[in-house]
Amino acid sequence: MFSKIKEIFGGEAEGNGQKATKTAPASPKAESKPASTKPRIGYIHLSGCTGDGISLTENYDILATLLTDMVDIVYGQTLVDEWDMPEMDLCLIEGSVCLQDEHSVKELLKAREKSALICAFGSCAMNGCFTTYARGGQQAQPKHESFPPISSLVKVDLALPGCPVAPEMIAKAVVALINGDMDYLQPALDIAACDTACGCDLLNGVMNKALCTGCGTCGLACQTRAIEMIQGRPHIDTDRCIKCGSCYVSCPRSWLPETQIKKELNL
Ligand code: SF4
Ligand code: SF4
Repeated sequence: MFSKIKEIFGGEAEGNGQKATKTAPASPKAESKPASTKPRIGYIHLSGCTGDGISLTENYDILATLLTDMVDIVYGQTLVDEWDMPEMDLCLIEGSVCLQDEHSVKELLKAREKSALICAFGSCAMNGCFTTYARGGQQAQPKHESFPPISSLVKVDLALPGCPVAPEMIAKAVVALINGDMDYLQPALDIAACDTACGCDLLNGVMNKALCTGCGTCGLACQTRAIEMIQGRPHIDTDRCIKCGSCYVSCPRSWLPETQIKKELNL
């Protein structure tokens, strides 16, 4: 995966678009246009509140150059007038997938088929977030619908957590992708199929293992202010927790290479 992203986004821009056209037969439409040398990006909105899309627009002042000069937005329901999904280098997917919505399921499967890389864009796509608790339907016609994370149906290559993803994180991730900055992107690759989705995961995975240093990062990452630091330790207000998982993936101690440490200490 490491080399795959580097191959697509790293190095000279000229090689990027060429690779995309080499790996798949170009459509007649694409053949009539000059071959683009920029990474081809798609954006798909499944089930969510659109907060991640709004967060993306918060960046337009600084991303204008990137979006217009450095990447090609080739697919997106509200971004591009294109109905047939083209080959893409990267597809950002916002929202969880409603299993009862045939269109959403087909769109997701097709995106996997057409994209070199799939990015779970935001917590709903990454771990389901609050949508996993949604019942679906309307009061007048109650019915059960389920909204699992996209990794339950397709392989996900990287994830950007958040409810919504912070505008700064989006901007930095896009710049890192274009520059092939793998050090910056490594956490996003590691949490691609993340299944932590609650403040309880922070308690189980960090607090209960006595790994917490009281740095407060989890509290800063929580966008619903469900975490209060009391005497240097996080306390979770479960009524406010929307199950986004941002606290756990932001905690520097959740990345502790426990297996490696045990191996080196012969534990
Ligand atoms: S981010 Fe992790 S180490 Fe820091 S206070 Fe929260 S649980 Fe503790
Ligand atoms: S405590 Fe906050 S950051 Fe953690 S999962 Fe709940 S809402 Fe998200």
